Amino acid sequence: MNKNIIVTGGTRGIGAAIVRELVKENNVIFCYNKSDEIAEEIESNLTKKGFYVSAFKADLSKKEEVIKFAEYCLDKFKNIDVLINNAGISQSRVFTDISEEDWNNMLNTNLNSAFYLTQAIVKNMISKKSGLIINISSIWGQIGASCESHYAVTKAGLDALTKSLAKELGPSNIRVNSIAPGIINTDMNKGLSEAELAELKKEIPLEKMGNPEDIVKCVKWLIEDNYTTGQIISINGGWNI
Ligand code: NAD
Repeated sequence: MNKNIIVTGGTRGIGAAIVRELVKENNVIFCYNKSDEIAEEIESNLTKKGFYVSAFKADLSKKEEVIKFAEYCLDKFKNIDVLINNAGISQSRVFTDISEEDWNNMLNTNLNSAFYLTQAIVKNMISKKSGLIINISSIWGQIGASCESHYAVTKAGLDALTKSLAKELGPSNIRVNSIAPGIINTDMNKGLSEAELAELKKEIPLEKMGNPEDIVKCVKWLIEDNYTTGQIISINGGWNI
């Protein structure tokens, strides 16, 4: 593949799995919010194996830090092939309890970060007339989520951004797709009780959670592909057929 790839939120869960796999055949820069030690460990372990990987600390809920991350990537990689907007937070809260701060933090972290970063990076892709953007959205953006309305709004927003940019940037040979996971076994779901997990599994035809690797396979396929754009690819065990 030998691409220059940016991944947001690379120290945990889906993002970490994407970094670990893609670095085997590509150059990868990832950002992280707080976990200095984990980021350094990932960077040094993979570098020792001869791979190119670089970690950058940035709180993506803050515009100025997103811009600094974009500048870092543009400085390290003269050409950017793939941008994966993966970082995100979730929060379980009944609608009437969502504060303005909760709402703004959710929008800033999950949606505005993708706006600022994509805008900064896509200029590089437009100038060379090639690129791929992958937004990690969610099943909740497609079907709505009780007690997570602010989260669902950000994911629906990402999907709308995907479709709009696919139309606008197709003529520049830039493909834009969302991957919309169902429930994936990461820290994001560690708060769920055994009973809650069992209930969720009953609703899923394949009767199980997905793993980060299920998302990684789709990311790799999108990188190899050259004719898929504007799609919301559901990886959810058949949850919303
Ligand atoms: P996770 O909590 O394990 O990882 C989230 C990542 O985002 C972490 O690396 C974290 O550092 C990063 N992040 C969060 N806030 C940040 C900030 N302010 N600045 C920079 N980085 C920040 O969760 P995950 O399951 O790996 O989630 C990855 C993506 O997949 C998210 O966008 C999430 O909404 C989406 N998703 C996950 C599931 C699931 O069931 N796990 C389902 C659907 C969608």
